[in-house]
Amino acid sequence: MAGFDDALRGYAYPIHRRDGFRCRYCGLDGTKSFASWLSLHWDHLLPKGNPHRDDSDFIVTACMFCNIADNRYFDLLEKRGLRLDGLSPDELVAQRRPFVEATRQRYKNFWAVNVEA
Ligand SMILES: [Zn+2]
Repeated sequence: MAGFDDALRGYAYPIHRRDGFRCRYCGLDGTKSFASWLSLHWDHLLPKGNPHRDDSDFIVTACMFCNIADNRYFDLLEKRGLRLDGLSPDELVAQRRPFVEATRQRYKNFWAVNVEA
């Protein structure tokens, strides 16, 4: 089970460093503030059971929100007419990004109405 300490023990750090400490979906920059860095997590581009799931090439930096924003992604692949096989990590990120951005936009609209000072 992954935990927050993995960012310090080396599981996540090499992935975050490779990605410039930026969320691959929204661009949140973990070098700009401690709070931003704390919110960096990682995202598996392939589902459980895929033989390449735990290859570091197929794990990318994602902030905690983007990591869960489209958490039914793998379940909905077929319904959305998407595939995973044969796509590069960059292509997999690009394929998923619009779904993550759609959820972010819904949350941003909510925030603007209900939270923003
Ligand atoms: Zn993000």
